Amino acid sequence: MSFSFDVKKELLSFEYKNRHCLTAAIAAIINISGYTGTDNGRKLIIIHNENPNVLGKAAEIIDTLFGADIYCHKDNIIIEDEALAGRILDAACIRDSMGFSIDPPIDPGVVSRNCCKRAYIRTAFLCCGSISDPNKHYHIEFVDNNYDHAHALKELIGDFGINMKIVERKNHFVVYCKEAELIVDLLNVMSAYRALLELENLRVIKGVRNNVNRLVNCETANLSKVVSAALRQIEAIEYISDKKGLDYLPDNLKKMAEARMTYADASLKELGEKMVPPVGKSGVNHRLKKICEIADKLKGDINNG
Ligand SMILES: [Zn+2]
Repeated sequence: MSFSFDVKKELLSFEYKNRHCLTAAIAAIINISGYTGTDNGRKLIIIHNENPNVLGKAAEIIDTLFGADIYCHKDNIIIEDEALAGRILDAACIRDSMGFSIDPPIDPGVVSRNCCKRAYIRTAFLCCGSISDPNKHYHIEFVDNNYDHAHALKELIGDFGINMKIVERKNHFVVYCKEAELIVDLLNVMSAYRALLELENLRVIKGVRNNVNRLVNCETANLSKVVSAALRQIEAIEYISDKKGLDYLPDNLKKMAEARMTYADASLKELGEKMVPPVGKSGVNHRLKKICEIADKLKGDINNG
């Protein structure tokens, strides 16, 4: 099963203890998945969602809040009792001025408490959210069909310091986030603790792996730099020795050249320690550079003459 499925499963098992949180949850369901309509003059609410578990949750909440048994038909719940439908709209504070249609954005009264904000966001995720497998990439989103509601939802999540972005996609407004840290925060807000731990573990493993890779790359790069410098120096010394003999070099450079030929794979520091008297690392570096310059000059002279 997908990571999204697991997160939703965990959210569905969340137990609400307060009517205010349940009211916030039903407001989210109606705002995101609800429609009003009429049937032979009777006003009704339709809740449409492709996830039967979400419809089951909606039915359960309506039963708890209003003591009304309602049933799901395929992808829909149809609330045909006009009085009940009115009570639901009133409780969720989403009855518009015309009296019977859904008018998001989110009523501040429904989400005045922190617990209710969290209930709203949690339920919104159940209705229209999804999260990518963090093994692949970090992405969480809510696909909203209402511009105002998408912005209200972004703001509501923003109350927890989580900055979501919005993009329009095929007539929908996608409230999304791609930052691992913020996704962890959002899972925390929704009380998806199991998913949160899973994501955090993955981040630790990925982080360690990246650090190891960085170290390995770094050391390999340094090593190859040292080796190629030594090879260049040896080549220069051999050239000088071949064309002019090492006596061509001033005494201090000649000694350095001999040391380099003897200890081909020594570091600059080690080479310096072999000298009598010892020479510092920068002194060694300076002398080897000088030797390379002399070889380069010789090559130039010979090529030109
Ligand atoms: Zn609450």
